[in-house]
Amino acid sequence: MIRIGVLALQGAVNEHVHALQAADVETVIVKKAEQLNDIDGLVFPGGESTTMRRLIDKYAFFEPLKQFAAAGKPIFGTCAGAILMAGDLAGEEQAHLGVMNITVERNAFGRQRESFEVALDISSVGESVEAVFIRAPIIQKAGPNVRVLAEYDGQIVACQEGPFLACSFHPELTEDNRLHQYFVQMIRELKISA
Ligand code: GLN
Repeated sequence: MIRIGVLALQGAVNEHVHALQAADVETVIVKKAEQLNDIDGLVFPGGESTTMRRLIDKYAFFEPLKQFAAAGKPIFGTCAGAILMAGDLAGEEQAHLGVMNITVERNAFGRQRESFEVALDISSVGESVEAVFIRAPIIQKAGPNVRVLAEYDGQIVACQEGPFLACSFHPELTEDNRLHQYFVQMIRELKISA
């Protein structure tokens, strides 16, 4: 059975665990870097990216996470999780893990409306997928190998680059777990071709 970890340093951890369980996979609450060796994929939850980064450093996760990504293991980042994955952060000197060729602007929707919910059409995933945005970032730029999966208000809000999936919103806060199912499917396909 596929085992997917949820990085459990801060943020909406349990909600992701429930969404993954509904997608019929085994879940692991990841609190120590060694646990990365036992999983097929990893979710970075939403929360607060600066706090999460501080805890990544404090609990010696930085290098192991870079290695996990360098090995091509799938990662799904939602909201603050997408911020952690970006190669570039608009207006900030340093990115965090830099595993995707995307530029992310933090709190970009938040300035207009703190939080809102919309139904999004997401390529390869489905139509009218429920999406909750909370002080959400936008994906300002996407590199040539990045596939844009969804836009809202003319801005990229979901994309994929090989084994890495990122979205600006919180798919774990709704009962609609099609994006989690898509991530599980990505892992299955990678396992078959490995
Ligand atoms: N604004 C948050 C950040 O910069 C992300 C918000 C979220 O994950 N809901 O980390």
